[in-house]
Amino acid sequence: MSINYLKTPIQEINDPLFEELGIRLLIKREDLNHPEISGNKWWKLKYNIEEALHVNSHTLLTFGGAYSNHIFATAAAAHEAGFKSIGIIRGEETLPLNATLSFAKRKGMRLHYVSREDYRHKSEEIFIENLKSHFGEFYMIPEGGTNELAVKGCEEFSKKVLCEIDCDCVCLPVGTGGTIAGIIKGLKGKKEVIGFSALKGGTFLEEEVKNFLKSHASHLKNWKINLDYHFGGYSKRTQELENFISRQWKDHELPLDEVYTSKMIFGIYDLIVKGDFSRGTTILALHTGGLQGRINSKSVAKKFPS
Ligand SMILES: *Cc1c(COP(=O)(O)O)cnc(C)c1O
Repeated sequence: MSINYLKTPIQEINDPLFEELGIRLLIKREDLNHPEISGNKWWKLKYNIEEALHVNSHTLLTFGGAYSNHIFATAAAAHEAGFKSIGIIRGEETLPLNATLSFAKRKGMRLHYVSREDYRHKSEEIFIENLKSHFGEFYMIPEGGTNELAVKGCEEFSKKVLCEIDCDCVCLPVGTGGTIAGIIKGLKGKKEVIGFSALKGGTFLEEEVKNFLKSHASHLKNWKINLDYHFGGYSKRTQELENFISRQWKDHELPLDEVYTSKMIFGIYDLIVKGDFSRGTTILALHTGGLQGRINSKSVAKKFPS
């Protein structure tokens, strides 16, 4: 494998409430698996990078919005693995570039903006043909990075790492459903898996996940997707959520992003309070990253001395 991976710690959240209810909450800090290609984006990219090398491609091309974690991670991975990269960005260019896009550019990613209208057609053959005649050969990774190889990377992580952790339930945030599909496959029916949708109207996600489970895993039923903690929709936030994020940092030095992980952890707290988890349950929540380098590495070193 051509991109670096760091072993990550498990952080237990000690809260008097959990103690009273006899519940343990562990956080698998995959946000720390790489300083730039963090969290689930690392596992999703792993086999795509291998495949791109295998087919002798020199350029990775992918899609995303101006704040996309996937754009950020792909730019970093391409740089580290020695590929050129192209980001097809939804909407018009806004200058100065925001932190995500200026990072991508620093990593050598060529940014190409398309209107929201055109962006909707990005999976169509004619759109892709146009990209090919414009940019030449490339290895294409879909928006959000979800494809069969991404699921395979998540499955491997699940099999090698999660299976070995003593817990009853694995929780993770859900965007496209690719990550949770891999996690479910890797666990092979062990433990319970709960995904927390970061999208409003995420009822379609169940079908998406089932689709990815079709190959050898359609019999697995130990999972569900909770739709109650989207806070108004994808990348929407409320004051309550922001307060929650600040409190987690202050009380536990747990850094959370506003789009995915904070909504999941908020949901877990709420479900614990509502009595959804029985006494004696150990919950493992996956920190899927999304901090885009915002985390202070000094405080990490202090908290998790190696
Ligand atoms: C992309 C992303 C997700 C969603 O992963 P899917 O495979 O699309 O469901 C979750 N958390 C973070 C931090 C992400 O960047």
